[in-house]
Amino acid sequence: MKYYILFGPPGAGKGTQAKFMVEQFNLRHVSTGDLLRREIANKTPLGIEAQKLIENGLLVPDEVVVGMIENLFTSERTSAGFLLDGFPRTIRQAQMLDELLKKNNEEVTKVVSLMIEDELIFERITHRAQIEGRSDDADPAVIQNRIETYHQKTEPLIEYYKERGKYEEIDGNQTIEAVAESIATIM
Ligand code: AMP
Repeated sequence: MKYYILFGPPGAGKGTQAKFMVEQFNLRHVSTGDLLRREIANKTPLGIEAQKLIENGLLVPDEVVVGMIENLFTSERTSAGFLLDGFPRTIRQAQMLDELLKKNNEEVTKVVSLMIEDELIFERITHRAQIEGRSDDADPAVIQNRIETYHQKTEPLIEYYKERGKYEEIDGNQTIEAVAESIATIM
């Protein structure tokens, strides 16, 4: 199985590009954000715990998201691989993912990173709030927290994957079509 990681700050266009990538490369799209929002909608104990954190722009505990990912890896094996969107988000999650894959002699295939500047994050998320109606997109203070969380907890993953020779960066400021073309050349 292939294990692609779609990486980047909030609002970089991961969800948009994921839709093209899953079709083109026969991958199973796994968005931990979508999975958590489903738990919230179903009012499960996990969803109730996650909701407060998400609404404040904070991360859900590593063990919770890794548990969800592990379930999917064992139950959904019909595609050519997985496209992980919004996971891993901490070094600990990346280490746990490596350990998980190693058990089956597997490894992360590649990290496709979409990069945009902080100023553009605000613009993109505010625009998305009008389309998708996500509560964590509506409040500027929450967006700011998510940006800070990204820089503190998630950005160190760039070095982690560079050291392992798996990191490929794409300029997320281009048009949707141009970003999709750039991604296709490195897959
Ligand atoms: P996203 O849809 O990827 O922007 O995720 C929305 C929110 O869900 C994030 O701001 C986090 O609160 C939470 N979340 C999603 N993925 C993770 C993850 N891998 N680790 C921790 N929290 C996550």
